[in-house]
Amino acid sequence: MRDLLDRLDGWRDEQIEFLARLVNHDSGTDDVLDVNRAGAILAERLEGLGFALRRVATERFGDHLVGEKPGTGPKRFLFVGHYDTVFRSGTAKQRPFHIDAQGRAWGPGVYDMKGGLAALLYALRAHREARSRAWTETSVAVVFNADEERLSPTSRPVIEAEAKRAHSVGILEPARPGGEYVMARKGAGTFQLEVSGKASHAGLQPEMGASAIWDLAQKIAALHALTDFGTGVTVNVGSVRGGERPNVVAAHAAAEIDLRAWSQADADAAIAAMRRICEAPHVAGTTARFHGQIHFPPWPPGLPGTERLLQIMRAVGRDLGVEVRAIKTGGGSDGNHTSAIAPTLDGMGPKGSRAHSDEEFIEAATLLERTKMIALFLDRWAAEFEIVPPC
Ligand SMILES: [Zn+2]
Repeated sequence: MRDLLDRLDGWRDEQIEFLARLVNHDSGTDDVLDVNRAGAILAERLEGLGFALRRVATERFGDHLVGEKPGTGPKRFLFVGHYDTVFRSGTAKQRPFHIDAQGRAWGPGVYDMKGGLAALLYALRAHREARSRAWTETSVAVVFNADEERLSPTSRPVIEAEAKRAHSVGILEPARPGGEYVMARKGAGTFQLEVSGKASHAGLQPEMGASAIWDLAQKIAALHALTDFGTGVTVNVGSVRGGERPNVVAAHAAAEIDLRAWSQADADAAIAAMRRICEAPHVAGTTARFHGQIHFPPWPPGLPGTERLLQIMRAVGRDLGVEVRAIKTGGGSDGNHTSAIAPTLDGMGPKGSRAHSDEEFIEAATLLERTKMIALFLDRWAAEFEIVPPC
């Protein structure tokens, strides 16, 4: 353990420089050339660590990187991190990586989630150079995906396939602002509602019209009333549009709806209720179409596999004098997908705040701290995690 920690301490400045380099290469999801340039930095590192690397090309996004390092033992651990950001090309030029007097590091994607990637790569390097037992015996796989900020449409099958081969999964999303790990995430879905009515002159023949807006408005009220902070089911109509001009009874109106829930049963019940609301006409002469789906399946709280990983992380925290806490959150990640397949722990990256904004930062010192946590976690996981025997 001391060996791993000493090595990591020795690389502290170098690791910050590596993170700076990563942050200063923009990788906005839709800027494929940028993304692949940032990916090349990661690919070089993985190959340097002895990973066999596969690039999964897609038509719309940058390449997903899938790496694999075999071990002599039966256990296999998967790390998942995305390297796309929400920031478009040129952002890093405008506000490059820097550390302020308070020790906060700034720059596009520094928190979500290039900090997590930099932490993992150095944790693995420490294992490799120390020739640790964990490194020798454990098969380690990584997926660095390039489309997470668009909800992982093309990387999801890649991640799920790797999760099926792994005994546990660590997600490199950042820690919450208080340093918490993530042990559960709500399921999330997006739905569309389109209402068709009948146009008419609002002054001459209002009775001949059927207002799609009036119908939609009442549906919105009923949809929002489904929100229950007690169960955690939330329904949010996040955008509406409709109508042409004030003196015409609106023939069309539409809404986009976000649904979140802790369990599939809650989600199914909410979707059924949403459908009932949407399909019942409030205004005679209108018709409605409701469709959509759950994109992130729920990662419910209290999964035994997640609890076990958290237990291991807590022991690591005791070794390092760091109190390990974990929370559940309404926001989705690739952990939603993997948790349904293999024990998953999320939020392994550095501590910071304000993701997806130009005020995004990490507490720079937690880069090294989280790197140590990952390194020692892998050590303990290799030694202590019980593989459920195949039946
Ligand atoms: Zn993220």
